[in-house]
Amino acid sequence: MRSNKHAEEPSLSNQVGELPKQYNPKIVEDEVKALWDREQTYEIVKRARSNGPKFYFLDGPPFPSSDTPHIGTCWNKVVKDTVIRYKRARGFNVRDQPGYDCHGLPIELAIEQEFGVKTKKDIQDFGLERFISECKRFAEGNSKSMTQTFQDLGVWMDWDRPYMTHDDDYIESDWWSLKRAWSKGLFEHGQRVVHWCPRCETVLSDYEVVLEYKMLRDPSIYVKFPIKGSESESVLIWTTTPWTLPSNVAIMVNPEFQYAKVRSDKGTFILAEARMKEVEKETGTHLELLEKFPGTKLEGLKYQSPLGTLVPAQASLKGARYVVLSKEHVTLEEGTGCVHTAPGHGEEDYDVGMRYALPVLMLVDDRGKFIEAAGKYANKSVRDTNTEIIEDLRSLGTLLHAGEIEHRSPVCWRCRTPLIIRATDQWLVRVAHLKDELIKEVDSTLWIPGWAGANQFKNWLQNLKDWVVSRQRFWGTPLPVWVCSSCGRHEVIGSKEELLRNAISTEDIPSLHIPWVDKIKLRCKCGGEMARISDVMVGWYDSGAASYACLGHPKYPELTSKWWPADFIVEGRDQISGWFFSLLKAGLVAMDRSPYKTVLMHGFVLDDAGREMHKSAGNFVTAQEVVQKFGRDIFRHYVLQSTLWEDLRFSWDAVKQYSGDLSTFWNTFVFASTYMSLDKFEPAKWTPTKLARSLRPEDRWLLARAHRTIKEVTLAMDEYKVHEAVRKLKAFLLEDLSHTYVRFIRRRTWTEKQTRDKLAAYATLYFALRSALIMLSPLLPFLTESLYQHMFRNAEQGHPQTVHLLDWPSYDDRWIDDSLEGQMDAARAVLSALAVARMEKNLKQRQPVRQIVVATSSELTRKALKTYSSLMLEQANTRFLRSITKTNAARYETASKAQRFAKAEFADGTVYIDLKLTQKELADGLARDAVRRLQQMRKEMDLKVDSYVHTYVLAPSRKSASLLNSKRGYIAHEIRAKKLIITTEEMDVSAPYYTKIWQIDEENYQFSLCESSLVKTKA
Ligand SMILES: [Zn+2]
Ligand SMILES: [Zn+2]
Repeated sequence: MRSNKHAEEPSLSNQVGELPKQYNPKIVEDEVKALWDREQTYEIVKRARSNGPKFYFLDGPPFPSSDTPHIGTCWNKVVKDTVIRYKRARGFNVRDQPGYDCHGLPIELAIEQEFGVKTKKDIQDFGLERFISECKRFAEGNSKSMTQTFQDLGVWMDWDRPYMTHDDDYIESDWWSLKRAWSKGLFEHGQRVVHWCPRCETVLSDYEVVLEYKMLRDPSIYVKFPIKGSESESVLIWTTTPWTLPSNVAIMVNPEFQYAKVRSDKGTFILAEARMKEVEKETGTHLELLEKFPGTKLEGLKYQSPLGTLVPAQASLKGARYVVLSKEHVTLEEGTGCVHTAPGHGEEDYDVGMRYALPVLMLVDDRGKFIEAAGKYANKSVRDTNTEIIEDLRSLGTLLHAGEIEHRSPVCWRCRTPLIIRATDQWLVRVAHLKDELIKEVDSTLWIPGWAGANQFKNWLQNLKDWVVSRQRFWGTPLPVWVCSSCGRHEVIGSKEELLRNAISTEDIPSLHIPWVDKIKLRCKCGGEMARISDVMVGWYDSGAASYACLGHPKYPELTSKWWPADFIVEGRDQISGWFFSLLKAGLVAMDRSPYKTVLMHGFVLDDAGREMHKSAGNFVTAQEVVQKFGRDIFRHYVLQSTLWEDLRFSWDAVKQYSGDLSTFWNTFVFASTYMSLDKFEPAKWTPTKLARSLRPEDRWLLARAHRTIKEVTLAMDEYKVHEAVRKLKAFLLEDLSHTYVRFIRRRTWTEKQTRDKLAAYATLYFALRSALIMLSPLLPFLTESLYQHMFRNAEQGHPQTVHLLDWPSYDDRWIDDSLEGQMDAARAVLSALAVARMEKNLKQRQPVRQIVVATSSELTRKALKTYSSLMLEQANTRFLRSITKTNAARYETASKAQRFAKAEFADGTVYIDLKLTQKELADGLARDAVRRLQQMRKEMDLKVDSYVHTYVLAPSRKSASLLNSKRGYIAHEIRAKKLIITTEEMDVSAPYYTKIWQIDEENYQFSLCESSLVKTKA
C-alpha cells in the first residue's frame, strides 16, 4: 500500500485537522479524483469488504446507442452508486458489475446510416463480417464513453469488467437457457401473428409497438360479399385495410346480436340491426328492413370473394369463405357487425381461424410486398395497393361506399415506417401458462414503491403471452437452433464446446456471431447435414438473462451459488414492461424462480415543463453540463433529493438553489475544524460519554437529534428511500447544526481556557459532524472525502485512508430524548418570536435588554424555558427571563405600560421585551456592535484565529467613548487585543494599521487594527 501524500503525515496526537475556508467544488473534486486514482481507493474499499455478507446488485444494462448517456441514466447510476456505497459502509461484500445491452436494431440502423445501406440485401452486399464488426465497434465505443461519464460522476462500479451482452461467454449463457427451455418443452417454433416493420424486415415486440404512433390517413370502405347461390344479396363489411381483402378467408358475426336483412337501391345486405342507422348515415344509403334473425342463423353461410378471381391464391382456396361466430371479437362500436377475417393479418382473426381450422392465407413477404400468388398486386407494397383494390371493387360492383379515416397507428419506433400485422414463423419461449407463477413471484418480491409491483407490474402480467424471441436481423445472439435439411429435425445447442464437438468440420470460429457461427454445420442422426436457422434473439432476452448470464452460468457454478439471485435492482418506470418483466420471465424459465429479491422503481427526468428531453426538441440537458457549471456532488445532491419514483422536472434554478446547501454543509464543518484544530482537540480522548456530566441541555439535545437522525437515515437507506435520507441529513445539518447548535456554542468555543464545558461542546459537535459525514459519504462522495482528508483523518483510529472505509455510524436509543427535542422546538419558537418583536421596534439582536417576559399557558414552553434557562438568557440577550400565565399578562398590555414593551405572538403565547435601556445595556450593546465590526476587520485582514492585535478606537463623543471603555475588558478579550485604546483624539494609525470607518447608531467610529507581532517588528 502506498502512503498518502495528499494529506499531511498523520501525527501521533490524533487531533482534528484544519479545513480550507471556502468550498470550491472544482478544486475539491479534482483533488479527490486525483487522490482516488493515485491510491486506487475503489479497489481498496472493495477489497476491505470482501469478507462481508454478500449483496448482489444487478445493473440494468443501458443501450449504447449514443456516446452521451441521458441525464436520466446518470440519475439512475448515481442512485445505484449511493446504494452500493451505503451497503459497503454497512460491511457488505457488494457485487457491483455494470453492464451494457449491446445487441439490437438501433445499432444496426446506426451502422446502416453511417455507411448508407438501406435494406437487408444491401447489408449482405456490404458484407456480414464487416457489418457485424462495425456494430461491435460502435457498441463498444459508445460503452466506453458512457463509462467515462459515469466514472466522472463518482460512480464506483467494476468498470474494468462490465458484462457486455455480445461477449461469447454471455451468448453461451443465453444458449444454455434456451436449451434448458427446449428440454422442458418451453422453447418452440410456430406461427404467430406479429407486428412487422417492412423496412427493418423484422418482428417487433408488443412493448416496442406501443412506443411510437403516427396519425395516418387510411381508406374507410364498405364492401359487399355476395352470398353464394343468391348473388343479388350480400354480407356487408367495413374495413380500413383494403390491402388485407386478398387474404380474406371468412366473415365473423356475433351469435348474440340481432342481424337484419335490408333492402336499398344498391342491393340487399345483411348487417347487424344495431348498426343500421350509422351505416345509413356514413354511406348515404337508405336501408329498408326486410327481416330480423339472430347471428347464429348465419353460421356456415357461404359467400364469394368481393375481388372475384383477381387473386389466384384466394380463388383456389378450399375450406374457406363462410360465416363464422365470435362473441369476443365482434362488437357494435364500429362497422357493420360483420367482420372481414384474414387470419394472416390479425391476431383475433388468427384465433378464430384456428378454432374453425381455416387456412392462413399469407400473400405478403418480409418487405411488405405482395407475392406472385397475389396476382395483379404482386411486387407492390401493400399500403400502396389500397387505391387499386378500391377501384377493382368498384368495377366489380362490390363496393358500397369509400371514404377516409384519420387514426393513430403504430409505426416502427426506430424508422417510423407504418407497421403491418402478419402471420410469420417465429421461435417462442412459452410462458403464457406460467402467469400464476409469475404473479406469485411478484408477491414474494419487495417492490419500492409497493404500488409499482402490486398494481402496475401485476396488471402488466395479466396480458402475459408467449414470448416471441426470434428476430430476423443480424446483430444479435444467434438462435442456437440447427435444422436438418434431410429430415427436418431441430437441435438446440447449449454451448460453444457442444457446438464444436458436434461440428462436421473441426475449424474454430473467432466469434459466436453471424456470419461465423453459420459456418458450423452439424451431422444429423439421419446422416443429413444440419445448418443453423437464420434468426437472432430479441435483445430483451439478452438483458433478461443478465441475472445468471453475467455470472457466466452454468460454466462457473461456484459464482452462481455464491451470488444468485440478485438482492437488488433499480430502474426507471418504463421497465415495468421492459427489463423487470424480461428478467422475471428469463429467470423463471432458466432458473425456476424470480432472479431478484428487491426492485426499486424510479421516475424520468423531464424538462421544467414536464416534457421528455430529446436532442431534437432542443430541451436536452446533459449531466456533464450540470457538472461543468456546478460540480459533481451538486448534480448528485440535486437528483438524489427528488422523490425517487416521481418524475424529476429539471430546472437550472433549482440546481442553483440546492448548490447552496453544500456550501452551508462545508461552512459548518469549517467552523468546527477551525476551533478544534486551534485547541488541538482530540476526539478520541473526549467523547460525549466521557464528558456526560459536563454536557449542557443543548448538548444533550443535539446528541438526541444526532442519534435520531442516524436511526432515521439508516431506516430510509435500508428501505432504499434515498431521497428521505437526503432530506433528513439536510435538515440535521442545516436546521439543527448550522442554524441552531453552532450559534448556541459560539461563545463557548471562543473562550481561551480549556474547560470541560468547551470540551463538551466540541465532543458533541464532533460526534454529530462525524456521523453526518459518514452518512453523507454515499451521497456526496467527493465533498465528504475532502472533509475527511483535511479534518477527520488524523483524528481517526488508525487513520483509514478514505472516508469510504469508515463503518456506518450506529445509534443508541438511550440518547434519543423526545422530551428534550420537544422542548427545544418550544424554545426555538420563543426565540423566533423574540426576533420578530425586536425587528418591529428596530431593536438589534446584539442590543442586550434588561428583561423579557413570556406569557404562556403551555406546560411544554414553561418546561423548555426552565430546562434551557441559561441558553435562553444568552440567546435572548437579556439579564432576566421569566414566564407568566396568560392571565397575568394583562399589565403588559395596558396603555401606560404597553409603550415600554415590544411584543410578538407565537403559537403558545406572547413574548414581551422591556425596551427601557439602562447605561449597562447601552454599553453592552455598543460594545457588541464594536466587536462585531472589529471581528469583521480581522477577517478582512485574513488574521489567524489565535493571533493578537493592537487596536485604536476613535469614538465620536465622550459619552460613547466612556460607554465603550466601561466594556474594554470584554472587547479586548473578544477581539484578542493585546493593546486597546478607546479615545476621542486623533492618533497616528498609518501602516501597518488597517483602518475603517463604521457607522453605529448613526454616528461614525474609526477602528484601526494591526497584528501585534508587526508592531513589535516595527519597534
Ligand atoms: Zn423499422
Ligand atoms: Zn436429419
